[in-house]
Amino acid sequence: MAILFISDLHLHESRPQITRAFFHFLHTQAENAERLYILGDFFDAWVGDDDDSSLNIEVANELKKLSDSGTQIFLMHGNRDFLLGKKFAAQAGAQIIEEYTSVDLYGQHTLLLHGDSLCTDDTEYMAFRQQVRSPLWQQQILSQPLVARRALAAQLREKSQAMNSLKAEDIMDVNQAEVVRIMRGANVKHLIHGHTHRPARHAFTIDGETAERIVLGDWHDKGWAIYVDEGKTELISWPIA
Ligand code: MN
Repeated sequence: MAILFISDLHLHESRPQITRAFFHFLHTQAENAERLYILGDFFDAWVGDDDDSSLNIEVANELKKLSDSGTQIFLMHGNRDFLLGKKFAAQAGAQIIEEYTSVDLYGQHTLLLHGDSLCTDDTEYMAFRQQVRSPLWQQQILSQPLVARRALAAQLREKSQAMNSLKAEDIMDVNQAEVVRIMRGANVKHLIHGHTHRPARHAFTIDGETAERIVLGDWHDKGWAIYVDEGKTELISWPIA
């Protein structure tokens, strides 16, 4: 039994190969896992749980099958799918977990994040994040008709594509002082996150002790996952056809 982590699939109707690769992952690696953690930006956009697009329904159904087969599924919000709610989670047989959740991975105390909150050098983005994470702002968006929200999401996507914001170099990397600060605060030596599209394992020290930050990759030409089993942690990737 293993514990799996994925993030930044950016599922969208325009990228059916990613959805296919994800379903394949569910039917192969995830089926035998004890737990599956999805650490944000699972969907490229989320306009509300009332959005009954075929993609959303198919994804919920596939996750539900996995959950029914005995794998526990946990969903964390990213900066694109922060409106994902309890209704979708229930349909998918998943549980929403808060950012900065600590989990026990076979004795290894590990902090989980999407990762955008670590990019403190991007002050403009941090202000935007504060706005879109506020319950009042979210309520205002969700009270608009679905057709208006879909149009808004399409508009934002066009804008972000024009700015190439899916490319790693356009997303600022984490601030190392912030990494150490939050790990110290949570009293952990292990951190897993996504968001930056810079998959890697970073070893460093905190107060003289060895620490590690593992960054998941975004699913594009490759799929990425972290595989944890008793005494073994691996960052793995495989090609997507
Ligand atoms: Mn992100």
